Amino acid sequence: MSNTRVARLGELIRTHHPCVVLTGAGISTESGIPDFRSPTGIWAQYDPMEYATISAFRRDPVKVWEFYALRFEVLTRAQPNAGHLALAELERRGLVRAVVTQNIDALHDRAGSQDVVEVHGSIRSASCLACGTRVPLEDVVAALESTPAPPCPQCGEILKPDVVMFGELLPVDAIDRASALAREAGVLLVVGSTLEVYPVAAVPEETLAAGGSLAIVNRGSTPYDRRAVICIDGSAGETLAGLAEALC
Ligand code: NAD
Repeated sequence: MSNTRVARLGELIRTHHPCVVLTGAGISTESGIPDFRSPTGIWAQYDPMEYATISAFRRDPVKVWEFYALRFEVLTRAQPNAGHLALAELERRGLVRAVVTQNIDALHDRAGSQDVVEVHGSIRSASCLACGTRVPLEDVVAALESTPAPPCPQCGEILKPDVVMFGELLPVDAIDRASALAREAGVLLVVGSTLEVYPVAAVPEETLAAGGSLAIVNRGSTPYDRRAVICIDGSAGETLAGLAEALC
């Protein structure tokens, strides 16, 4: 990690209010949750067309739950890391307005961030597509101990996790809020995302079109690197902890 770049990022945030943060799977790898598109990511093991689309779920929900049961085990054990904690701290100090996240792990919330926009849903609940009943995470986890796919307590249909699968629309309120925040941002700080999955991949475009600046902390490249004022190719946890210190 370059201290000079972190200091420059700190300066950018100090001088370009407000700072809005957009996070992806890369902020949670240091909590032990694999990302999607890295060589060790989830899609290296599982074909997203078979496990992550709404049509796959409708075709064979039990098979899709085999995948989610494993993910839930990892996600429910994971703890917020230095990156999540630094963002919560920067929000408390008035240096970050909000976090828009593609992650479903609820770790920003658990780290203490107050204004979190979850554009891909979360594991906090699962719902019945037949009768609309919503079931909290603890009940889903309890059901998974005795069955491969949790049934709806009202009608017995298999529940669907309240996360956005490929082929589904994003929750309108969340994506509208993400767009509004991106347009207002003096600086949009992207952390741990390949910026390849739309519509969220278009969010930085909104900041740039409205005259805001873009900064990126990510291992590896993104399609926006050349338009960013600062790119830091390094650990999200280490970089954000360094940033919180630089902004003391
Ligand atoms: P991604 O895997 O595409 O990108 C993660 C990026 O973070 C990579 O560039 C990686 O190199 C980087 N990275 C990994 N560890 C890092 C670290 N410690 N520090 C800094 N960078 C690190 O993930 P994404 O961009 O979040 O993917 C987009 C979204 O697509 C996902 O968040 C997910 O919500 C969504 N999605 C969901 C499903 C589903 O199952 N419902 C399916 C597909 C995609």
